[in-house]
Amino acid sequence: MSTLRFNALKETLNRKNVEVNEPVRRSDIFGKNVFNKTSMRQHLTKQAYNSVIDAMENGTKISREVADHISTGMKEWSIQNGATHYTHWFQPLTGATAEKHDAFFELEMDGTVIEKFGGGQLVQQEPDASSFPNGGIRNTFEARGYTAWDPTSPAFIMGTTLCIPTVFVAYTGEALDYKTPLLRSLQTIDQAATAVCKYFDKNVTKTMATLGWEQEYFLIDSALADSRPDIQLAGRTLLGHSSAKGQQLDDHYFGAIPSRVLNYMRDMETECMLVGIPVKTRHNEVAPNQFELAPPIFEEANLAVDHNSLLMDVMRKVALRHNFKVLFHEKPFAGVNGSGKHNNWSLATDTGVNLLSPGSTPMKNLQFLTFFINTIKAVHDHEELIRATIASASNDHRLGANEAPPAIISVFIGSQLTKVLDELEKVTDGKLSPEEKTDLKLNVVGKIPEVILDNTDRNRTSPFAFTGNKFELRAVGSTANCANPMTVLNAIVAQQLIEFKEEVDALIKDKKLKKDEAIFNVLREYIKKSKKIRFEGDGYGEAWEKEAKKRGLSNNKTTPGALKAKVSKKTIKLFEDLNIMSKVETELRYEIEVEEYALRIQIEGRILGDIARNHVIPTAVKYQNRLIENVVGLKEIYGKEFKKVAKEQMILIEEISEHMEKINKGITEMTEARKKANNAKNAEETAALYCDSVKPYFDEIRYHCDKLELLVDDELWPLTKYRELLFTR
Ligand code: ADP
Ligand code: MG
Repeated sequence: MSTLRFNALKETLNRKNVEVNEPVRRSDIFGKNVFNKTSMRQHLTKQAYNSVIDAMENGTKISREVADHISTGMKEWSIQNGATHYTHWFQPLTGATAEKHDAFFELEMDGTVIEKFGGGQLVQQEPDASSFPNGGIRNTFEARGYTAWDPTSPAFIMGTTLCIPTVFVAYTGEALDYKTPLLRSLQTIDQAATAVCKYFDKNVTKTMATLGWEQEYFLIDSALADSRPDIQLAGRTLLGHSSAKGQQLDDHYFGAIPSRVLNYMRDMETECMLVGIPVKTRHNEVAPNQFELAPPIFEEANLAVDHNSLLMDVMRKVALRHNFKVLFHEKPFAGVNGSGKHNNWSLATDTGVNLLSPGSTPMKNLQFLTFFINTIKAVHDHEELIRATIASASNDHRLGANEAPPAIISVFIGSQLTKVLDELEKVTDGKLSPEEKTDLKLNVVGKIPEVILDNTDRNRTSPFAFTGNKFELRAVGSTANCANPMTVLNAIVAQQLIEFKEEVDALIKDKKLKKDEAIFNVLREYIKKSKKIRFEGDGYGEAWEKEAKKRGLSNNKTTPGALKAKVSKKTIKLFEDLNIMSKVETELRYEIEVEEYALRIQIEGRILGDIARNHVIPTAVKYQNRLIENVVGLKEIYGKEFKKVAKEQMILIEEISEHMEKINKGITEMTEARKKANNAKNAEETAALYCDSVKPYFDEIRYHCDKLELLVDDELWPLTKYRELLFTR
């Protein structure tokens, strides 16, 4: 056994639980490190407080003078709570969060202290950010962007640093982060949904999108993780034979959590509570060493997105203390389930109504149906864009595999609501007779049970499922920033609601229909038009693939193919019309993602080549030499008769050679393919080549490496094995 593997195992087996200090009551510490309404009241003047609240709720601008007051209060509060530094915290298009720390005070050469945190520092900063992805819009001499305070997400303290959530924008005005388009989409859906709400309730003045995410992840001992170059550099295993026991017995799912893991979770949850992330549920997932975390309550989408990004930071940080490594990768291990991030999405009004929750009266239910059907129609019209928004090199391993929703987007609504939509489809064109109206209200709309949350027909194979009072986008990858899918969802539903309102108003005005008649008429057409997106069956089955093809639904299995929908004319127009992203902004994001895809596959190819040539083959040769020695020895003893006793060894010697040959051939060809891909004429073509002509070698090379793992003496094998990675604690 290699020293690295041996030491890693020894270290892991000798691990002691790390002590955790847990507060007696979680509620005592919840939000303690957040500059929330309570702490703002204490530290801000009334005027400053009111203008932050106004900015949070209505998006009003904060004057520079008031910003000075706010920064003073914020600084006071954070210093009282142990902060020495501050940073603008943002989410560039790298997928990770970024921060640049500055001290509150600085000592001048002459010994005087200067104050560095004023309104100016709060509101705007200029990080030296020339190497964040920018899709080529910033040339190097103009490579500057700035971060600007987002008052809708509260500042918080991490360790000794005050973190101020910000957007990140180029000097030329283009958004260079996830948050900016998200914020714009939230504003758009607020306007569009509120306008439609007014049909039902004039008191609604604001609508917000809500998000509740569920985060899956793997936890591996850090020594074991670091003993594998692939996990270390790519976050996943690129080879490794399956463990004899994996998840077949389903004995990990919801089983007892190992005490070391439990300690980690307790510690991490405490940290989350301090920064105001309301995490609570924890349970084992299907695969060994896989777990899930979800907040018990959903939040306004911008805050929820920030909280998910922050959560991932916290999880990584706390893991270090416990000698764990968190794997967020969508598929760290072949043969066992991968990880996703369910995005539960809904719309809520300032009158306290969840618009996707059926109500107790026919009118409330008509409102519910309006938002429900418009969402389905929006998904129908933009299914390819939704697929594109969840595409990544790592999520390609999951979508369409037997555990995650397929690459085909469809909507599941359950049998009860299917019946309701079937009835609505029969509504007469134009004016409705009084009898028909009564019948509709009492027997169709009025019959939607208030609580369909417990409907038994939950479909776990659907990428976009209605789950009683929200839609659940289940195909998002575990590494993804939720802002992307949320921006798309808000945008397409907003556009749909704007169209809906225009159509209803036109029927009222031109055809003199009553409001509810007009609504019924438009909804009926939407039900008909969006029918093909609805699917109640097994999304994992082959039959669905055939059926979906017949229906004309897209099935983009790989990222380069899927991403194209992000820059289709339709998408560019969608974002432009709604002022969510300009054409340049849409295109630069596409460019960045295409490049990232190619880079990820390139890196993985290099790692695989390196492991196979420098670890696997030399080990195989070593073992083969032992066998050869053995055969030579037997020949000495048995002479001509040696074959009788050396037969199996000789077969093994040959088999090893065959596998080595295939591996070498694979690597050589893969390297050639990489060269071709690197020299392609543009990023799009490079990505396509990496996908179609580089990646296929991964499986081929892996297959032979894994065969060698089975043949070679365990003592010699250099890489920590699946069994050890997944079951050693
Ligand atoms: P699971 O998928 O594990 O069965 P659920 O489907 O019950 O779990 O999802 C629970 C998640 O849904 C929680 O994270 C919760 O925050 C979220 N959620 C519940 N209601 C809403 C809502 N109105 N808007 C957004 N998210 C919601
Ligand atoms: Mg879920």
